[in-house]
Amino acid sequence: MIDLTERVKSIEYAIRDVVVHAKKLEKTGKKIIYLNIGDPCKYDFDTPQHIKEAYCEAIKKGYNWYSDSKGLLELREAIVEKEKRLNNVNIDPEDVVITSGISEAISMLIATVIDKEDEVLVPGPTYPPYIAYTKFFGGKPVSYKCDEENGWQPDIEDIRNKISNKTKMLVIINPNNPTGALYNEKTIKEILNVAAEHKLIVVSDEIYDQIVYEKRHINTAKVAGDIPVVVFNGFSKVYLATGWRLGYMYFYDPEGKLEHLREGVEKQARIRLSANTPAQVAATTALKGPQDHIREMVEKLRKRRDYTWKRLNEIDGISCTKPEAAFYAFPKINLGNKWKDDKEFVLGLLKSKGVLVVFGSGFDPVYGKDHFRMVFLPPLEILEEAINKLEEYVSSK
Ligand code: PLP
Repeated sequence: MIDLTERVKSIEYAIRDVVVHAKKLEKTGKKIIYLNIGDPCKYDFDTPQHIKEAYCEAIKKGYNWYSDSKGLLELREAIVEKEKRLNNVNIDPEDVVITSGISEAISMLIATVIDKEDEVLVPGPTYPPYIAYTKFFGGKPVSYKCDEENGWQPDIEDIRNKISNKTKMLVIINPNNPTGALYNEKTIKEILNVAAEHKLIVVSDEIYDQIVYEKRHINTAKVAGDIPVVVFNGFSKVYLATGWRLGYMYFYDPEGKLEHLREGVEKQARIRLSANTPAQVAATTALKGPQDHIREMVEKLRKRRDYTWKRLNEIDGISCTKPEAAFYAFPKINLGNKWKDDKEFVLGLLKSKGVLVVFGSGFDPVYGKDHFRMVFLPPLEILEEAINKLEEYVSSK
């Protein structure tokens, strides 16, 4: 047997790792309700018809070649227009790099910046690939506290305390996965100021920017003034195209401080040739065409969010902060002496009731522990069945 590299041995991805257990049970004939993965297309949300047609047309018209490594100019121009329209942010097509999902953007940026033992400040809890890729490239992820008592807003003092002379990068995820928090302007500006003081590269992942319920999302670049920011976004969630694997990053860099970083990212973009070309054509149509599906999706999700949040808080032993955005609830479990930890709770729920959620410590061993993450993407009747089962599980112990 070949010996795997240390970097590969370090990879963990709780959201998909729990599926292995579910599949085993499914083989024995048990029905499983999957509430683990943030893929709206797996439930009753579908890619808008005109965007699907644009993809098919692109193939028929012969857009089957490798594109420019930074992506099709038409798409980069459409992203520039979107940023102006939605956020009043001024960027140029040259500032944009199209990637195979944000997933690739995370890997490219971290590979460009992080050397052995360099530190990356990530939200605690976080979307796990920020931890996994940092470790993969030899760096050290350091979690900063997001305060559940304060609607899961980042704790600025904790960020300050965790900066060392090895810290190179700071990640903001807003709206947040897994907490569903939406950050206020004051918090974003405070984070930006701390990062600027310590010359950290700020990365802002905004993949759920238009899936918001009460308040509007605030784009980090919009309030950054002369502080540079690398913004990540994509087509998986808002444009309901998870399987297309298309995303982008852009450099908001009013004073040209990120030139060197861009060169590094562009070098990496060249060695992997390009992102999917027909998907880029269709994504251009997605940005330029009607946006009605977004409102429809948010209205549908709002009902599911309200139902989920209310029902979770009615269960004795579970409490949940109201998600303000995205499609995740991140409830706290009163483990008492019934369960050893959140992982045991989640695996027990799966085994006894066939409901699959993700254990909170998979999003951060400290700030995620004693929680679980569930998606509220399914129709109400499925959510009802799942939450009934959860309630039975919690009260039966
Ligand atoms: N960033 C966040 C915060 C996410 O929650 C996800 C997926 O769940 C991604 C990035 C992955 O995005 P993509 O499909 O563009 O790779």
